[in-house]
Amino acid sequence: MNIILIGPPGAGKGTQARILEEERGMTQLSTGDMLREARTSGTDMGRKVAEIMDSGGLVTDEIVIGLIEERLQSTGEVGFIFDGFPRTLAQAAALDDLLRANGEELGAVVEMQVDDDALVARITARSTCANCGEVYNDITRPIPDDGKCSNCGAADFRRRADDNEESLRTRLMEYYKKTAPLIGYYYHAGLLRQVNGLGEIDEVKGEIAASLGR
Ligand code: AMP
Repeated sequence: MNIILIGPPGAGKGTQARILEEERGMTQLSTGDMLREARTSGTDMGRKVAEIMDSGGLVTDEIVIGLIEERLQSTGEVGFIFDGFPRTLAQAAALDDLLRANGEELGAVVEMQVDDDALVARITARSTCANCGEVYNDITRPIPDDGKCSNCGAADFRRRADDNEESLRTRLMEYYKKTAPLIGYYYHAGLLRQVNGLGEIDEVKGEIAASLGR
C-alpha cells in the first residue's frame, strides 16, 4: 500500500516514516532528504535549491516531481511512504498520474496534526545523526550520554540549516497556503485519515497503525 504522510514541518513525518520502513518494509521517499543530497552536488541547481531551502520556501514543482519520478521506477516494493511530498496541488496531480502510469494507487493519506507552538519547540530543539538520519530532540529525546547514535553508533550530529525560527515561520506559511489545500483534495478522494501528532512517538505510531486499519 502506498501512503502519504502530510503535516506541517516538525509534525514527525520523517520519524514515523522511518518506523514504517523498519517495521513494515515499506520505502520512505522524502523529497526533503533528496533535496538535501542535491544541494551538496556543487551544481547551479544545487546552489539554487540550497538558497530556497534555507529561506523556508518551496522548491519548484518541476524539480521535486522529477526527483519522485526517478525513484518510482523501482518495482516490487511493499509500498511507498511519501514524506514531504506532495506539497502543492500540482504535485498531487502529478503523483496521481505517475502512480496510475505504474499501475499503482494511493491507499491512504495520513494527516499528522500538531499545533504551531509545539512545532516551534520541536524544530528548534531538533538534531539528526549525520550518518543514518535518526532524529533527536534536546528535551524529549536527547543524544545518548556516550555521544553515539543509538541506531548506528556514529558520533556526528547536525542541526538543519532551516531549523531556525525565521525559516520555520516561512515554512509554516508555505504549509498553510500551499500544502493544507491537499487535505481537502484527499478528503474528497476518500483517502484522508487524521491522527494526533502531539503524543509520544509510540502513541503516534499506534494511531497511524489504527488509521491504516492494521
Ligand atoms: P522537509 O525535510 O520535508 O522539511 O523539507 C525541507 C525543505 O525542502 C522544504 O522547506 C522545502 O524548501 C524543500 N522541499 C521538500 N519537499 C518539497 C516539495 N515536495 N516541494 C517543494 N519543496 C520541497
